[in-house]
Amino acid sequence: MYKTTIGLEIHIELKTLKKLFCNCKTNFNASSNLNTCPICLGMAGTLPKFNKKEVLHLAIKLGLALSSDISNIISFDRKHYFYKDLPKGFQTTQFFNPVLRNGNLQIENKIINIKEIHIEEDAGKTKGDNIDFNRCGIPLLEIVTEPDFTSYEEVIEFLKSLREILLFLDISDAKIEEGSMRVDINISVSKDNLLGNRVEIKNVGSFKSIKNAILYEQERQIKLLEENNIILEHTRCFDENKNKTIFMRNKETIKDYKYLKEVDIKEIYIEDDFIENIRKNLPILPNEKRVFYKTKYNISDDEIDILFENILFYSIFEALCVKTKNPREVINLICGEFLKILNKENIDIKNLNITYIANLINIFLDEKITRDTYKKTFYEILKNNQNPEEYIEKNDLYLIDDENIIKDAIDIVLEENKKALDDYKNGNLKSLKFLLGATLKKLDYRANANIVNNILIDIIN
Ligand SMILES: [Zn+2]
Repeated sequence: MYKTTIGLEIHIELKTLKKLFCNCKTNFNASSNLNTCPICLGMAGTLPKFNKKEVLHLAIKLGLALSSDISNIISFDRKHYFYKDLPKGFQTTQFFNPVLRNGNLQIENKIINIKEIHIEEDAGKTKGDNIDFNRCGIPLLEIVTEPDFTSYEEVIEFLKSLREILLFLDISDAKIEEGSMRVDINISVSKDNLLGNRVEIKNVGSFKSIKNAILYEQERQIKLLEENNIILEHTRCFDENKNKTIFMRNKETIKDYKYLKEVDIKEIYIEDDFIENIRKNLPILPNEKRVFYKTKYNISDDEIDILFENILFYSIFEALCVKTKNPREVINLICGEFLKILNKENIDIKNLNITYIANLINIFLDEKITRDTYKKTFYEILKNNQNPEEYIEKNDLYLIDDENIIKDAIDIVLEENKKALDDYKNGNLKSLKFLLGATLKKLDYRANANIVNNILIDIIN
């Protein structure tokens, strides 16, 4: 029986305004090499200055959410390697004193231990023959887990939970497809509970690819062991088109990097007050919210997944719950009509008018409009920012609640359908349904079917 052991190294790009050691901006859409200065280009004679205010704040937020030990003193180190997108010839990272240690995250059936989380700077980006140094010096957190995973299912569950936490804490966009969350997988297969030699798979770019890369690598390594081959430690990458992992390079060892203390940055002390202040302002975390939604609002896990996958959906839901009477109806709307419209139309959901949507939901819950009108008006709010009351009024879509109008319509229908009326009186229940349908049609479907039904029976009897 073969056993798979997996550990992860996850880089997440932090949402800061400034870079890690200089005042350059971090915006994603700037033109090439605009966001650079002598410090992040690593020119001789420049001195890095740690962006403590932004970066340390975000790192500690994550540390608290993952129950980590927070160091009281941190420092930075140089990790040496040569690559054209790293002009300094070394990356400034934390090797000896990482900011966070011994964290954990609970997934469904087990706890995944997090060995450490350290702060480091990103490198530039190679685009064909050109290099864009805008990304150089953008702050990252590297999350290093213990090798606690045994399957791709556990890996993906962990990554999804971690991503939700990052979004709730508002510390990263955590978009795996866009590179603001990058996952390296260390995987080994072994027999008889021994730990095998591990292979690293670099930068796998989607949850689907993570699953496929792990499945492919498991099979590849088992095959090698079956043929009595030794698995050498090395680094691979995942080719999405061929759906397989490919040899990239031999594994660097710690020795190769010649870690050295970064003497240009002094040790940084983290005061207890600083940590306590962050702890006090920590938002409710996704797991806690999940339990609340399930027990109080009767929302399913699948529906919660939809809410948590896009943090904007979550905030829209929360805002609507405050302003409406029935959270269950809000979730129906978001997971149903809302997603349907977003799939078809290009709508900027950052600027939705929450009051309009809430008013519409309440009008519907008060049974003043039909479901059809509800959907139509919701579309108008999303697409054209229509005021729902005005729209419904203008188009004469409110349900008819005047009993006399309903009675008049019934009288006409009964007059026009004498045979159906006789059939019903002779015990044919289907005829009642027919008469109800005809009355609703006569009222342009603007009346509540239950109310019409009751009046109809009253009149016939
Ligand atoms: Zn700079």
